[in-house]
Amino acid sequence: MQKAIFIDGLWVEPRSGQTRRIINPATAETISEIGYGGRDEALAAAAAAHAAFEPWRQKTVYERAALLRMLADAIRSRQDDLAHILTMEVGKPLAESAGEIGAAADQFEWYAEEVKRSAGDVIPPRLANRRHLTIRHPVGPVAAITPWNFPVMLATRKMAPAMAAGCPVVVRPASQTPLALIEVFRLLETIGFEPGVANLVVGHPGECSQVFVEDDRIKKISFTGSLAVGRELYTACAERMKKITLELGGHSPFVILPDIPLDEAVECAVFAKYRNMGQVCISASRFYIPNAVKAEFEERVVAAVSKLKIGDGRDPDTSVGPLFEEKRVQASMELINDLKAKGGKVLYGGSPPEGEAYAKGYFFMPTVVTDISNDMKIMLEEPFAPIMPIIGYETVDEAIAMANDTPYGLAAYAMTRDLRFTVKLAEGLEAGIIGINDCAPSAAQCPFGGMKQSGVGREGWSQGLDAYYETKYVSIGI
Ligand code: NAP
Repeated sequence: MQKAIFIDGLWVEPRSGQTRRIINPATAETISEIGYGGRDEALAAAAAAHAAFEPWRQKTVYERAALLRMLADAIRSRQDDLAHILTMEVGKPLAESAGEIGAAADQFEWYAEEVKRSAGDVIPPRLANRRHLTIRHPVGPVAAITPWNFPVMLATRKMAPAMAAGCPVVVRPASQTPLALIEVFRLLETIGFEPGVANLVVGHPGECSQVFVEDDRIKKISFTGSLAVGRELYTACAERMKKITLELGGHSPFVILPDIPLDEAVECAVFAKYRNMGQVCISASRFYIPNAVKAEFEERVVAAVSKLKIGDGRDPDTSVGPLFEEKRVQASMELINDLKAKGGKVLYGGSPPEGEAYAKGYFFMPTVVTDISNDMKIMLEEPFAPIMPIIGYETVDEAIAMANDTPYGLAAYAMTRDLRFTVKLAEGLEAGIIGINDCAPSAAQCPFGGMKQSGVGREGWSQGLDAYYETKYVSIGI
């Protein structure tokens, strides 16, 4: 059994003795069996983080930053083998995994620098005998709950700013994808972080989150995952007035304007849709194309998609890997069946690929669909599937209105070289992240998060650090 629980500087086995198998989605084979914790381990981690808080926050930002910077370098030094582990547990192609590991290192590097600038303010007084200032106080121990689709980067996007601000963390990653993150904790162990500053509890989601919500030693929760679970946690935290940041799902529109050459549009659209097989919170989910060129776009996109090589992510020739689990294959099939029943048309794909190479893993063909109506499941729910729905539009105003017609507001994409339309789209699209001629808008140094039901708060940029501070206003009479 592989130990997957790191509390107070030690790798431990769960008290219950429970284990869990980790599966490679490309082969459906077991690649590891890990110790799987629950309430006991969450409580022990809360205690460790609580004990670590005072000494950790008392360190100077320069001391904390030096450790974080060393961790960034250590992660980069193992980028290739961490990427390999990530591909084994999630299925994404090696190049995408390497990108994720690089982005995880970026988090530690960037917050190691940014925290040195997290200054308070001196505020001019109205009364001559007063002096006002603000100081920043770390919120305290933080619980980070993260999903399987970017299991390393999404955990580090919470760890780096929290630890930089002086908050110890308890990370509770998705049950099925802890392996690469375990290696990050092994690196952290060698660097000299004090025990309890970073804890890892792989274990039962409900049991762990109940501890994080109810135990007063945990002062904040940062959650990335589905709207349904996010809503549950938000409600539970409200009862106790516990702070929470929520990074939830999306249904991102992609609007192509008539001035963009179709080859460029196709290349960007294919990337925005099929990266990690559509299992990305900011995956483009609805493609709006001018009616005049819709048929030609469809033809060219089908030609491009038919060239994508489906396969095991470890094969360097693979352009798209398997879906993450069998459930996702069934969910994709259901979207297709629903769409066909409501008059939609499959232009390419629409089922698992045939052949011996795909017999065991959770593969699905990258799919292109048209004749879309708003009552289709694919338009109502976050699809998390490799399916590109194509919809025609007549005017840019109509496209923006359709793009905004969703309760989600995580990301939105558009392509144009026209400056006036660029401004109109940036100001008109209702999303926290807007990629204009950029099909992968995400970076440690930029804010990331959703409008509407896609979340509460932001990660990344200085706002990601603000999320782990209280502001204290100090008024001094002289
Ligand atoms: P999920 O079911 O909400 O799971 C997310 C995390 O919550 C996992 O660690 C999961 O553990 C845990 N969890 C599940 N049920 C729980 C419960 N009742 N109480 C507490 N924790 C619970 O989401 P998912 O399907 O794994 O992930 C995909 C979703 O994440 C999509 O909606 C995607 O858009 C969203 N996402 C958002 C962002 C962003 O930055 N906005 C980034 C990536 C993904 P188990 O794995 O053990 O079930």
